[in-house]
Amino acid sequence: MNKNDDVCPKCGSPLSPISETSTGRKLQRCNQGSWNPQTHKNEGCDYVKWLEVEPVELEEKCPKCGASLVLQVTRFGKKMKKCSAGSWDKETKKVVGCDYVEWINGITEPLDEKCPKCGENLVLYTTANGKKMKKCSTSGWDKESKKATGCDYVLWLKAGQTASDNGEEFLPPEE
Ligand SMILES: [Zn+2]
Ligand SMILES: [Zn+2]
Ligand SMILES: [Zn+2]
Repeated sequence: MNKNDDVCPKCGSPLSPISETSTGRKLQRCNQGSWNPQTHKNEGCDYVKWLEVEPVELEEKCPKCGASLVLQVTRFGKKMKKCSAGSWDKETKKVVGCDYVEWINGITEPLDEKCPKCGENLVLYTTANGKKMKKCSTSGWDKESKKATGCDYVLWLKAGQTASDNGEEFLPPEE
């Protein structure tokens, strides 16, 4: 570890201990600076050092080029999957290599169930605020046309309900 890393490059003061934002990002502020919640402004030195969150390699493959995807967390706590064959060139401000990026607002887990509409696999999707739904793995969202793409099958799960309990909504009662 380089000792200079712990000194503010703006004013030369030591940095405060690492703190964590509500979204799980880690940062170090200059100890000459502080956030004033009343004025919503930084007071004193405004240097903030964001600590890199290591990208996690996923088992999923890039739909564009077939390289593996990595999970990355931005400094605003947003999660995205991006192609490991792509990288950001800071000088040209352009993506080099594969530009596939998928923003994640929640967590998707594969399910061992088939979509009743199209027969593809279902996934269990947990939104950023903890709501769960089952949806078809072929579904997507086209940001440009603001329309859902692929299969539109969605089933919201009520709180506390397990995935198997929810099967009742499809099957006729067995009496
Ligand atoms: Zn400073
Ligand atoms: Zn790719
Ligand atoms: Zn489907």
